[in-house]
Amino acid sequence: MTARREVVGGAAAGAEVEEGPPGSSGTRPVDPVADPADLADEVRLRPRRLDEFLGQPQLTEHLEIVIEAARRRGQPVDHLLFAGPPGLGKTSLAGIVAGEMGVGLRVTSGPALVRTGDLAAILTDLQHGDVLFIDEIHRLPKAVEEVLYPAMEDFQLDILIGKGPTARSIRLELPRFTLVGATTRAGLLTGPLRDRFGFVGRVDLYEPEDLRAIVRRAAGILGIDIDDDAAAVIAARARGTPRIANRLLRRVRDYVEVRAHGAVTAALAGDGLELFGVDGLGLDKVDRAILDALCRRFDGRPVGLVTLAQCVGEEPDTVEEAYEPFLLRQGMIQRTPRGRVATPRAFEHLGVAADAPPGAARSAPAAAAPSLW
Ligand code: ADP
Repeated sequence: MTARREVVGGAAAGAEVEEGPPGSSGTRPVDPVADPADLADEVRLRPRRLDEFLGQPQLTEHLEIVIEAARRRGQPVDHLLFAGPPGLGKTSLAGIVAGEMGVGLRVTSGPALVRTGDLAAILTDLQHGDVLFIDEIHRLPKAVEEVLYPAMEDFQLDILIGKGPTARSIRLELPRFTLVGATTRAGLLTGPLRDRFGFVGRVDLYEPEDLRAIVRRAAGILGIDIDDDAAAVIAARARGTPRIANRLLRRVRDYVEVRAHGAVTAALAGDGLELFGVDGLGLDKVDRAILDALCRRFDGRPVGLVTLAQCVGEEPDTVEEAYEPFLLRQGMIQRTPRGRVATPRAFEHLGVAADAPPGAARSAPAAAAPSLW
């Protein structure tokens, strides 16, 4: 087999930086999207082998079988699609497939492949068995996606040469390769693209014990002395997301280096995270500002997205894509046709009495909200 080549980028790699929710600054300690400042650490922390990939037992078992079967047949692995929120290990899995198969890895993303020529340049440069990873594959332009169909199915590339009446199409044979696609929005993938993947794996939010093991592993690689209880404190605030766990670990490391010395204990981890504005549930300043607006300022009444965003000084898109999903998942807020409403859990978390102030309109709409679902 060929030596492992890892090429990050591709024909139009420049566009890769604009991943993530619009308006997101990428500086939140609990942002699940890769922050350019953390990229170097992230590459070091990335699991390279299946047995280093912690958690997701069912997914890793399926992959182990798919990879081993391909290896025994002496063929490249079938095309794989991974779906799930950012920061859960989809890119890592692509690298693991390449690592386990001993082949090269090419990394690019849907928005980076602007023209069909961008994809053609990458495809014609692949070697037999290589893994081509396309992140945010649901954002591939339609024309580029259509070039991908025969490439995935028949390992053929149709190129149009020239323009107008003299234009002609030539067909190139491609080496057999494995396409690994990743998407945060599986529902946006077109049927024909989805059907061309031989295996679709859903990557779920991680259990706290798995995140604790991930924190301990990352601490080992970064040379951070941390005990198990401290790792559990970080894991509990990581929103089920390894990338966030690793980021919180680095902030705790900074805190302990500057304010204390020696090993990271649970108390120091808690203090450090508190200092960076991350509370016991993993909510940060803006998450709490959203809840505060809903519970205190609007007294439990439904609030429109734009108004809510203005209250917390963020763009509506950012509130919707970067903050709301976790608050919804935690059962802190509800989306109703009349706007966002805080749930009793949000009142409880903020320590605001649910039947509190004399805000006359408060209890009625809040109580009516669940029936709007
Ligand atoms: P995604 O592509 O889904 O956004 P990544 O593969 O880039 O996620 O993962 C982000 C980081 O989280 C990786 O650099 C790695 O350090 C860590 N990570 C993700 N999943 C795992 C895992 N299962 N075990 C250990 N570390 C993980």
